[in-house]
Amino acid sequence: MEIFLIFTWFFCGVISGVVASNKGRSGFGWFILGFLFGPLGLILALVVSKDQEAVEQSAFQRGSMKKCPYCAEFIKTEAIKCRFCGADILDFPHSSPVSVPVKNKDQDDEWYERNMGNK
Ligand SMILES: [Zn+2]
Repeated sequence: MEIFLIFTWFFCGVISGVVASNKGRSGFGWFILGFLFGPLGLILALVVSKDQEAVEQSAFQRGSMKKCPYCAEFIKTEAIKCRFCGADILDFPHSSPVSVPVKNKDQDDEWYERNMGNK
């Protein structure tokens, strides 16, 4: 019976840690809390507010978020418009490079001669 109780408390600690770390909080700290308080710690982990900044910070490190160059808020990498300040985001660090048409010098000379004529 004692083993079962310890197992339950340990399980609560693990769940608390996982739930809390998904919310951007210290997984280990919440594991300890859940382990000490059992189901109560688990409930605390479930109701504790999300640390939005930490969640965004980790998303930024994974590469699914980028910082808006205008207002410095975190936005999705795919975004072409900032959801905070409405600015157009012109740099696409993850898209394939756009091929810039290279001017052909011979064609230009030909065009010039045809249209301007030789005086
Ligand atoms: Zn912005």
